[in-house]
Amino acid sequence: MTKCVIIGAGPAGMNAALYLKRAGIDVDIIEKDVPGGEMLKTDKIENYLGFSSIAGGDLALNMFRQIKDLGVNIIKDEVLKVVKNDKFEVQLTTDKISADYVIVATGRVARKLGVLGEEALVNRGISYCAVCDGAFYKGLDVAIVGGGDSALTEALYLSDICNHVYVLVRKELRASHILQNRVKNKDNITILKKVQVSSFNGSDRLTDITLSDGKNLLVNGLFVAIGGMPDLRFLNGLDIDMKDGYILTDDKMESSLNGLYAIGDVRYKNVYQIITAASDGAIAAVSIKEGV
Ligand code: NDP
Repeated sequence: MTKCVIIGAGPAGMNAALYLKRAGIDVDIIEKDVPGGEMLKTDKIENYLGFSSIAGGDLALNMFRQIKDLGVNIIKDEVLKVVKNDKFEVQLTTDKISADYVIVATGRVARKLGVLGEEALVNRGISYCAVCDGAFYKGLDVAIVGGGDSALTEALYLSDICNHVYVLVRKELRASHILQNRVKNKDNITILKKVQVSSFNGSDRLTDITLSDGKNLLVNGLFVAIGGMPDLRFLNGLDIDMKDGYILTDDKMESSLNGLYAIGDVRYKNVYQIITAASDGAIAAVSIKEGV
């Protein structure tokens, strides 16, 4: 039994834990993987105020240490289901926790392209995280699919490791200007616009890809960076208003289900950044404190 359970230890969840603990509210934070969320997939963060440049892993570790030192109860487990009776019941693989409030902060999972050959070649040339797998492609040619901040951040990271990096953009780039300018200054990055992948080829490992214009591109690695979607199956059975797969909240971060809050990338909103995720966490915590 605790006052509040936070599901997910990314910047949103960890900041909510920080604010709740400092307000004297009992809080458990549950994380199935390593704390940090998407930050762990980012090699360099330059838009989190207070740090001109910091590795994503270091920022995640700083946040984790801060809540751990404060005495937040951190549980490594997976949430299978959330049920609401008088209180919430959060079912883990090994335990159950009942709580007055639940904060959902589980972020998004990488979206797949859904193209022929993709499933069979995952981890055999196809990856969804350049920081995790880039080193396997040292000195080789690779491609990235996507035109957002993630795709160009990954392209810049890979350009320091790989021989050549192709960025495959289905329409136009939507990444920030600062990233676009940096990419322009790199000799070993080529942006190909208005192309899509038609098929991934190779029997044992990826050898090449066929593009929508019929051309073949010889690459050893392909990184998919086309954004993500929340995976909220553990909330099935609860009556929560959603939009396009994201949880709708009011400006206190509370969903249509009384006592259940949503923060960070699982929330339907306009700006998906580390700083806005952290801000969502602070707002939810302060709102809960006001209601206690
Ligand atoms: P975005 O949703 O911003 O961009 C997704 C990209 O993938 C778009 O170019 C989109 O094309 C393309 N895409 C989507 N589906 C397909 C498909 N089936 N085939 C080909 N291309 C496809 O996702 P990001 O992960 O880049 O960014 C998510 C959020 O995180 C953003 O708010 C971003 O600003 C933030 N972020 C910030 C960073 C930073 O500040 N350093 C680093 C990384 C992320 P189209 O435009 O045609 O839809």
